[in-house]
Amino acid sequence: MLDLGGKTAIVTGAGQGIGREISLLLAEHGADIAAVDINVDASAETASLVKGKGRDSLALKCDVSDSKDVDGCITKIVDWKGAVHILVNNAGITRDNILLRMNDSEWHSVLNVNLTGTFNLTRAVSKYMIRQRFGRIVNISSVIGIMGNAGQSNYAASKAGIIGLTRSVAKELAGRNVTANAIAPGFIETPMTASLGEDRKKMMMDMIPLGRFGTGKDVANVVLFLVSDLGSYVTGQVINCDGGMIMA
Ligand code: NAP
Repeated sequence: MLDLGGKTAIVTGAGQGIGREISLLLAEHGADIAAVDINVDASAETASLVKGKGRDSLALKCDVSDSKDVDGCITKIVDWKGAVHILVNNAGITRDNILLRMNDSEWHSVLNVNLTGTFNLTRAVSKYMIRQRFGRIVNISSVIGIMGNAGQSNYAASKAGIIGLTRSVAKELAGRNVTANAIAPGFIETPMTASLGEDRKKMMMDMIPLGRFGTGKDVANVVLFLVSDLGSYVTGQVINCDGGMIMA
């Protein structure tokens, strides 16, 4: 049920952190991986790790917020394997600031990468998924998109937007056997969270019933479930992967 042999998966933000873990886990289960990242050296490293697991991999430099760049990237991936079966929209950034100090650039850059980037990739691959009557789309949201967080209004809005986008896509594409789901990770130890101060980390830890921070692998495991046959009857859902931070 977890066999992804013969499937091609696109993972954005694949160069490090959660995206790399997702790429490696899907490869371990047989998928070939298009590792997409704005940092091509990082995605090349992920691609080489995927190849070390015996799967094929293509590293691509792409800014997910740029629709022309995305369309070109998807064309290259389809030329490479002839099909796209799995899309994981994982690329994301933070530009934290309190509301009164948040400038236009901080607002727009986060919305453009996190939300518009997810839209750009989803629109570009959906035509192939519709034609082949199979597709699995997983969007990485965040607990912050559900709870909100002081100092992260841009990030929270982008991650809440991903949930609305996911449910709409799920409804539009269900008739063609394309599922779309979101994962809302809590605090995951990656380069994105490494620079947070000890006070903030302690505050987060106090909110986690399971008593530990998450790993990229914890999130990758949920992706694997959703894109494999085990998750074939699940669509339009938001799955929290947060050690119990949110229970609703
Ligand atoms: P990360 O370590 O910062 O990795 C994100 C990757 O995305 C980096 O390689 C980054 O490249 C790349 N990227 C940034 N902007 C891009 C763009 N415009 N186009 C293509 N690639 C781009 O982050 P992470 O912690 O693994 O997070 C992955 C996802 O999970 C994000 O969507 C994040 O919001 C979400 N998430 C993370 C946590 C957490 O606690 N870590 C919690 C909830 C949700 P550069 O390094 O060159 O910028």
